[in-house]
Amino acid sequence: MTAYLDNAATTKVSESALKAAVTAMTENYGNPSSLHRMGLNAELAVTKARKDIALAMGADPERIFFTSGATEANNTILNGIAATYGRRKSTIVASSIEHPAVEEVLRELEKKGYKVKRIPPRSDGRINFAEFASAVDNDTFLATCMLVNNETGAVNPVDDIFAAVKNKNPDCITHTDAVQGFLKLPLKVSALSCDLMTVSGHKVHAPKGIGAMYVGRNIRLAPCFYGGGQEKGMRSGTEAVPLISAFGEAAAEQQRNIETAYKNALMLNSTLRKSLAPLDYITFNTDEKVSSPYIVNFSVKGIRSEIMLHFLESRNVYVSSGSACSKGKKSRVLSQMNMPDELADTALRVSFSKMSSWGEIEMLVSAIKEGYMTLQKTGR
Ligand code: PLP
Repeated sequence: MTAYLDNAATTKVSESALKAAVTAMTENYGNPSSLHRMGLNAELAVTKARKDIALAMGADPERIFFTSGATEANNTILNGIAATYGRRKSTIVASSIEHPAVEEVLRELEKKGYKVKRIPPRSDGRINFAEFASAVDNDTFLATCMLVNNETGAVNPVDDIFAAVKNKNPDCITHTDAVQGFLKLPLKVSALSCDLMTVSGHKVHAPKGIGAMYVGRNIRLAPCFYGGGQEKGMRSGTEAVPLISAFGEAAAEQQRNIETAYKNALMLNSTLRKSLAPLDYITFNTDEKVSSPYIVNFSVKGIRSEIMLHFLESRNVYVSSGSACSKGKKSRVLSQMNMPDELADTALRVSFSKMSSWGEIEMLVSAIKEGYMTLQKTGR
């Protein structure tokens, strides 16, 4: 048996999403722009998927645009908003714990002369709404704050943050990277006061290479790509119908079972915490009260993350050291939380999906115990 507990990095494609992709490749393979029936059928599949994604965001389907993933959506949004709203104003306020798909774009914008004010998290891993809003002034054209941190699972109070931002400066555009909260926590763009939202397919049992952005009705966004004018000119290029259909199917399926999956994640999370809590070499890096039940981050005393990760791998248990994207680099997120090096260097991220099971937790706990004993003896 395999314990795949790295679902914040990516998930297994669900049966129904796979089927939808295969149908779009082998039967419904027309180009949505073609004027004949085959084209229309492909367009209908895209329209259906758009509705399913919109429903999961509590948004109007007309305002959902498909992209190649959350990285492209974040790039389009940040660069596009800077191009339209950043002409007369120059400041962006952001959390200091954004995913590289936001942080690296902000660094590029800084090189172009924009000012970025970064708000660090409190020691619990969350951004404080009052601290965030206090950085917003009349020169701020964009505020961006992720919903769930991909390394720690900490859930930011994005509703309070953006309400406070709008209160201070009603013209400030708000964006949330909701990748790790989408189809896991209840989500509604209006409840979050957000003008823009980013989501990704492969974190929710759709294939890699598909994502979407919500762009509020009154928001003017300069596109990244120009061409055939697909996606209302917001993202030119022939629509990836197989990926879009699979994404829509995965979203519809997950939306139907969101509460059951949430309860399952809560149960797995608390089982894992209860099993590890008695071990004096384990430290939890986030409190379960402030984090998504889908992610647990903890440190194993004295054993570097990569060493333990590979030991667990040898026992068929797959977890992550920090985020999958940071590939062994020191975690920016944990250092922003002022975590001591001995905890940051030994941190592991365990992440669940609706497919995760109790047996996988058992495998993980016994492999951690064995790994700690073995690696301690061998001097790592
Ligand atoms: N934002 C967050 C919070 C993520 O966790 C990820 C994926 O790791 C991304 C953005 C990038 O998404 P994609 O792989 O769809 O480009």
